[in-house]
Amino acid sequence: MNMAQSKNIGLCPDCGEEVRFKKVPFVGQTIVCRRCSAQLEVVRKTPVVLRLAADAWEEEIDFEELDEAPRSSSRNKKDRW
Ligand SMILES: [Zn+2]
Repeated sequence: MNMAQSKNIGLCPDCGEEVRFKKVPFVGQTIVCRRCSAQLEVVRKTPVVLRLAADAWEEEIDFEELDEAPRSSSRNKKDRW
């Protein structure tokens, strides 16, 4: 059995295009999808698994947890006479 065929091929997670490597890629290698020109990063070698490169992510997470909802201040007052 010849298994040296679809070894160096990963799938673009963006458009699903087959991304071929001339050699066995290494983890962390980046390649540009020729179809959608997304920057891809190799996360696994066998089989080749690609993901969008970290540079491509727009890290504009602007979460500030404002947890100060105006509650009705209902304290328990003890009326001591
Ligand atoms: Zn693509």
